[in-house]
This record gives sequence, C-alpha cells and structure tokens, in this order.
Amino acid sequence: MPVTRFAPSPTGPLHLGHAWAAMVAHDLGEMHLRIEDIDRQRSKPEWEAAILDDLRWLGLDWTGPAMRQSNRMAAYGAALDRLWSAGLLFPCTCNRRDILAAASAPQEGAPLHGPDGVVYPGTCRGASRAGPRPGGVALRLDARAVNDLAWTEGGTFRTMEARTFADTIGDVVVARRDFGTAYHLAVTVDDATQGIDLVTRGADLGEATPIHVALQGLLGLPSPAYHHHDLVRNAAGRRLAKRDDARSLATYRDAGWSATALKARLRESRIAP
Ligand code: GLU
Ligand code: ZN
Repeated sequence: MPVTRFAPSPTGPLHLGHAWAAMVAHDLGEMHLRIEDIDRQRSKPEWEAAILDDLRWLGLDWTGPAMRQSNRMAAYGAALDRLWSAGLLFPCTCNRRDILAAASAPQEGAPLHGPDGVVYPGTCRGASRAGPRPGGVALRLDARAVNDLAWTEGGTFRTMEARTFADTIGDVVVARRDFGTAYHLAVTVDDATQGIDLVTRGADLGEATPIHVALQGLLGLPSPAYHHHDLVRNAAGRRLAKRDDARSLATYRDAGWSATALKARLRESRIAP
C-alpha cells in the first residue's frame, strides 16, 4: 500500500472538495496528514482543530502525528541553502506590476502564463549569488538549471523537456519574502520527509507537478508518483472554493447528513448536494 497524504491549509473549514481529497488519499494508500500553515496570517489553530474533528467524523484515519509546516522552517532553510550554495537561486525584488510590465514589453509579445501566473521575465537573474543566502527577499530558482523531467501521473509516464520548463514555467519563487519559504519548496521537502510514494491532490494543482519534480531532482530527493483527482463542483459547475462560500462539512453534519451518506454521495457524483 503506498504512503499518501492529505495536506489541507488551516485557513477555513473543510468543504466537500477537501472531503473528496481526503477520501482519495485514504482509498489509494496509507494516509498521512500535513497541515500546510506557512501562511501564518491566514492559518488559525482553531481551523486546524476543526480539520482533525472533520476527518474523525468522516472516519478517515491517518498514520502517525500530523506534520505542521510552521515547525519545518529549518528543513526548508537547509534545502534553500543547498540550492543557494549551488548557485541555482537569485534574489528577486520585483513586485507583481514590475513583472507584468517587463513581460508585456512590446518585443515580448503577449505575456505567457505559467502555474504561478505570468512567466517571470528574468529581470533579476543577474543579481549577485555570492555570500550567504539572503533573507527578507524573495528567492527564485534559475529555470536554466532544471534538467529534462519525467514522472508518472495516474500510472501514465509523463515527461517535460528542460527547455519547455524554462519557457512555460520559468524561474519559480522558492522562498517568498514574507514566508521565508514557498508552497513549491515546502511541499517537495515535506513529501520526501513523510516518505510519500503517491501524491494525491486536486486537478487544480496538476500544473505544479513539474516544478516539484524539478526540485526533487535538484535536491536529490526521491520522486513520488502523482494522481490528480477530479474536483467537486457546485450545481453551476464551479469548483468549490472558500471564496464562493462553499458549504462546510459542518453544515452538512448539522443538516442531518451522516458521514456514510455524504461519502457515498461523493463517490457517486462530484456535484455538491
Ligand atoms: N495545501 C493545499 C491545499 O489545501 C494542498 C497542497 C498539495 O496537496 O500539494 O489546497
Ligand atoms: Zn525580479
């Protein structure tokens, strides 16, 4: 049985999309739990407690203690140091407007969009990479360091050429100025530490996979297999999201749904009742 994980961010109550993600992780392997709370502003201990309660209510047990990303800054720092000492990172002081302006310069044509938004036009690549790793500034991975990539998605072999990575994904942020790390780096390091063999998560994160595979290669970490699952949608076909006031699991529970009925319903259809 592969080791899988459910990795919610404690920034609100779980909704049916989270329940489905946890069910998939639980169905396909031995589920581990990771609380993704690098965003200290939006993460709240009460949401973390509510997530654990909801998982228990759903009857989806996990193996071992939950990993909490806010306890893992030293591990992220060590990974960043390794990339920095190899000369693969550069500090970037651009804001969103600078990036859009540089990417939209007339000679550039229409700005290209990658998984993190506009593909970074390389403005700060020439910044000094000497000395100790700087803090308090965003760090980007020089995409030219990325090799040809290969991984499996849903059991199917996938590849991406180094040049495609550089052109369509580019120099991704691996440390945010405000967080000291970034989603892509934290997830890659944590999946390795938790011994994850099969990453299951929503299809909305599918485009992040080559970034994680690239980081695994540069950090000498094993590559798990990937399985991106379909998303739960509302009756209008929009995927559930906190900002759309997706009904929380607690709302269904209070309305008299049993966990068994709710799980059966989700297995049948990914349209929220
Ligand atoms: N923390 C992310 C979320 O709640 C999931 C990240 C992942 O599974 O890689 O959407
Ligand atoms: Zn920059």
